[in-house]
Amino acid sequence: DVTCRYVHGVGAVEGGAVLVSFIDVTPVEQASQMRRDFVANVSHELRTPLTAIMGFIETLRGPARDDAAARARFLEIMEQEASRMNRLVGDLLSLNRVETDERVRPRDQVDLTAQIASTLNSLRPLAEEAGVELISDGPGHPVNVTGDTDQIRQVLTNLIENAIKYGSSGGEVRVSLTEVERDPAVRGPAVRLLVMDKGAGIDPIHLPRLTERFYRVDSHRSRQKGGTGLGLAIVKHIINRHRGRLRVESALGAGTTFTVILPR
Ligand code: ADP
Repeated sequence: DVTCRYVHGVGAVEGGAVLVSFIDVTPVEQASQMRRDFVANVSHELRTPLTAIMGFIETLRGPARDDAAARARFLEIMEQEASRMNRLVGDLLSLNRVETDERVRPRDQVDLTAQIASTLNSLRPLAEEAGVELISDGPGHPVNVTGDTDQIRQVLTNLIENAIKYGSSGGEVRVSLTEVERDPAVRGPAVRLLVMDKGAGIDPIHLPRLTERFYRVDSHRSRQKGGTGLGLAIVKHIINRHRGRLRVESALGAGTTFTVILPR
């Protein structure tokens, strides 16, 4: 699949031949196609809740004007749709920020033990609501990496939130941190962070595309759970910026494990 653009033809050269030059513009075409797809996806994702809100406004002005119960129900749905738009805009801004920062080396000293504990604390209400138990194991002492505190926090939040969202009710989500002398993925001392759930798992055919923007295995489930389809794309960019690696292993019916390897 090579896209060639004709560059120029030079009149007759010696011997009556014509010299024609082509340039391979495949990467340029691919980048601009990706940009077009992205804009189309964002427009679609914003338009869906917007259309719902506009529909409900019409109904509230007309048929449901004097129906207090219907009004309360519609206002609640409009609020949910508005917060979906808000989450999407928030994730788009995060993605933009992460892409802009990608060439700048992060410099904070980030204690992963403390960050995991505090992320789990903030996500405990969500886990309780979903009937999921949060378990964590690690060395119990500070484990420092050089990184961007807010972005590392976002990686933890996105992965643990997904494990809760897509894990099974009554199951558990385990977050585990280990220090290793050497990990081949980063060619040196590293930390490994595992986020494991015992949910429905992901069919292996989806795994290579999982970190693409707006890629969802089950769109209905993702939307129902309030997903924007950008969480793992953000995670991937942040890990790239930290010169780390992201791995995912999953088995249908058994659960999913995301592994983040960061240089220490
Ligand atoms: P979303 O906002 O839809 O959750 P993400 O980028 O975070 O978007 O994840 C992309 C897709 O990957 C999700 O829609 C879901 O289908 C799948 N996924 C992510 N994490 C898990 C998990 N722990 N278990 C099963 N599926 C998952």
